[in-house]
Amino acid sequence: MSSSRTGRMLRHGLAVLCAVLSGSLAAGASGSPVAGPVVGASGPAVTATFAAVRETPGCQAVYISSRWAGGFTGGVKVTNLGPPLTGWRLEWDFADRGQRVTRGWNGVFAQEGGHVTVTGMWWNSGLATGDAVSPGFNGSLAGRNPDPVSFRLNGVACAGLAPPPAPGRWNPPKRLAGPLGQVWRHVESTYPDLYGARNRGWDQIMANRGSISYCVRWDSAAKVSAELRDRIHAALARQFGKWTDALTGWDSWPYEKVPVRVVGWAVRDRSALEWRDDSVEVHVNAAAECALACSRFSHQDGDYSGCPGGAARHYDLSLWLTSGFPGGAGGDWGQRLGSEYLVGALAEEDIPVLQHEIGHTFGLDDFYDWDPGVGGFLMKAGSAGRVTEFDRWMLRDWWRHLKSRYGY
Ligand SMILES: [Zn+2]
Repeated sequence: MSSSRTGRMLRHGLAVLCAVLSGSLAAGASGSPVAGPVVGASGPAVTATFAAVRETPGCQAVYISSRWAGGFTGGVKVTNLGPPLTGWRLEWDFADRGQRVTRGWNGVFAQEGGHVTVTGMWWNSGLATGDAVSPGFNGSLAGRNPDPVSFRLNGVACAGLAPPPAPGRWNPPKRLAGPLGQVWRHVESTYPDLYGARNRGWDQIMANRGSISYCVRWDSAAKVSAELRDRIHAALARQFGKWTDALTGWDSWPYEKVPVRVVGWAVRDRSALEWRDDSVEVHVNAAAECALACSRFSHQDGDYSGCPGGAARHYDLSLWLTSGFPGGAGGDWGQRLGSEYLVGALAEEDIPVLQHEIGHTFGLDDFYDWDPGVGGFLMKAGSAGRVTEFDRWMLRDWWRHLKSRYGY
């Protein structure tokens, strides 16, 4: 199976299913890899680093800077997480007395000693909840260029709750470090839009601020009781958690738990669903398809105005359960597997086909034609029955490579 596909499949016993079940990643192509964009740089910028990323309920600030021979360019993207502001004032302190702002943009800059204050301009002084401004500047240096470590927006600290992320905290066990490097180089050389794609599980969880939403496609004529519905939800949450729990407390990952919500069920015939409560939306159509207006895959611009419940009832992923379906498939759209297989496995702690396909949702690759020589692991189909230590490290490596795009 080519790594260039969005959807991936699991060779399950002897049955080989190679259907790519959805279109390509339709996300924006403007992605930047590990280093961030250099704000307003016109000179010969040499490096760009993300630093000083903190979050409080009031605001989030991401600072980037790039140094060149004669000085540096800096920029702060500050997002208002509090109530709407009719005027904003951003403040920080430079640690080195030689760090001087010489020319700013997207704000009015003032500096006294090491203390910098930026206020809004007539055209960007309003800051609604969730909106961001990105003032930038050129600066001169006398010596070092340490990044500022805290920011305040209208007096409220954007910093101070969490310790600064430890850059480059990458400490896999020695025996896995080399194989993990091989895997990432393989991913980099075979994924066509590795850093540009914006609809993997990572993007979905971050957009929801720490949760994931599903719609279940019941592609079967079998009846589903309310109890079976709830057991499927519980099993899905448990399998999803086998991955996300591997991130808890690791390398600035901001979430303790990632709750799995099920917002809808789709079915061909309403009578197959035996509940009458309205705990989930029910979609009835010949394809057993959830409403596209509520689908993140179809609305990567975040516009859910066509979704009856709005953004709150959107779904990121489909759990597509098809009667008689052998093996599985997974991608940024969700996972597909046999309904009988899943129902038969609901009591199991580990449901390997579902776990494997969720791995693809996070971007993890298949290993049909090579492997890094670490023995069995879940993403090498058929060689392990659950998420292994190596799988968990592969997942963390994805986070390590993508986290800067979310300000970590
Ligand atoms: Zn696979």
